Amino acid sequence: MDLKQYVAIVEDYPKPGIKFKDITPLMNNGEAYKYATDQIVAYAKDKKIDLIVGPEARGFIIGCPVAYSLGVGFAPVRKEGKLPRETIKVSYGLEYGSDVLTIHKDAIKPGQRVLITDDLLATGGTIEATIKLVEQLGGVVAGIAFLVELTYLEGRSKLKGYDILTLMEY
Ligand code: 5GP
Repeated sequence: MDLKQYVAIVEDYPKPGIKFKDITPLMNNGEAYKYATDQIVAYAKDKKIDLIVGPEARGFIIGCPVAYSLGVGFAPVRKEGKLPRETIKVSYGLEYGSDVLTIHKDAIKPGQRVLITDDLLATGGTIEATIKLVEQLGGVVAGIAFLVELTYLEGRSKLKGYDILTLMEY
């Protein structure tokens, strides 16, 4: 299936000059959403995954159906102040300034094998921060799966040594 037909390219969003890749048409189509999920499940099958971890909010959309299909749990990574119990946090750089991502301290048991999911790899900052959270809790990042990779932003250079799946490249 050609998944790119379900990605809407939105010019000048959220800022002039950006061509935003909107994945909501993919989620809106049951066949495409299932196909994309099944590709990630097939990638994860032989990795002995114990847990899926995804950053808000689109990491949930990708990760939760994969978790359900594999019969494993899902742990959310969220912006600061959103998780109600004790968390650990990591700050990461944005184009202007920085932001903070958090995860519940008891979300991962040491040694658990984790698959990280998100919709899109751009500069890699979000996933680099998510990896730090997983590893600080003793998790092993066994794979990272995205729907879309913007190869021209070279986010992979921040993720050297990790096993990465992307379903579409721009
Ligand atoms: P990065 O941290 O790799 O620079 O940016 C990736 C994060 O920003 C992802 O969590 C992703 O959801 C969001 N993002 C950045 N650009 C786009 C885009 O064009 N489309 C979508 N759907 N998400 C984007």
